[in-house]
Amino acid sequence: MLELSHWPLADRAAIVGVLCDIDDTLTTEGQITADALQGLQSLHDAGIHVVAITGRPVGWSEPFALQWPVDAIVPENGAVALVPSETGLRKLYVEDEELRRRNFARLQKVAHRIVSEVPGAVLARDSAGRETDIAIDHSEFVQLPHACIAQVVRLMQDEGMNATVSSIHINGWFGDHNKLSGARWIVRELFGRELDAELHRWVYVGDSTNDEAMFEHFPNGIGVANIRRFEAEIAHLPRYVTRGERGAGFAEVANAVLQARKE
Ligand SMILES: [Mg+2]
Repeated sequence: MLELSHWPLADRAAIVGVLCDIDDTLTTEGQITADALQGLQSLHDAGIHVVAITGRPVGWSEPFALQWPVDAIVPENGAVALVPSETGLRKLYVEDEELRRRNFARLQKVAHRIVSEVPGAVLARDSAGRETDIAIDHSEFVQLPHACIAQVVRLMQDEGMNATVSSIHINGWFGDHNKLSGARWIVRELFGRELDAELHRWVYVGDSTNDEAMFEHFPNGIGVANIRRFEAEIAHLPRYVTRGERGAGFAEVANAVLQARKE
């Protein structure tokens, strides 16, 4: 990973949109800091698209989608989008209602199995707001040992689910969507743009193992400094890394993008 100062000005000047994770990328100890919020606002004011993509639930994301200057939040790893509008929030889904209803029932069965079979495993406290996935806490309010995290992942996969590990939760869901497919989908829906046709014009900012596929895909992949906690576990590290951790790191990215527009 190169220091962010190595990001060429010409590459930064081409940027039309910033995609980012939320937990420990935008937020610091669960709250957005003033510098990160200012970073979002400055990008927004400059006409740069900003979409936050997270493993967090729809219910948890709603207040932030209303408060933050973003074009959308894509919660539950690419399954849903919350789009602020003058009349409130628009909610878009990748899957139809019937499929979501069927999967929801299957998800609750697997959640029950995990909690009864894996020692120490508990549902994430934000589970009530989840519509298309389940989440097990590993570092938010409890500390789940590595072996148990691996056991949860295996169990989800055995049940035919996708599973990812964020900085705080293990998320599992049915269906092929993920952060990357969610990014492609929302960029097409909202802006009429094809992400893969202009990847070099987008940035992805993240901090954890569940951002790895995004780092692999995006030439302008940036980790906030706390990504070093997971450095040994991530095969595809981002090209750049900020000096600051979490929200301070995100603010650096916003400044780096905006600086290139002034020169
Ligand atoms: Mg994160």
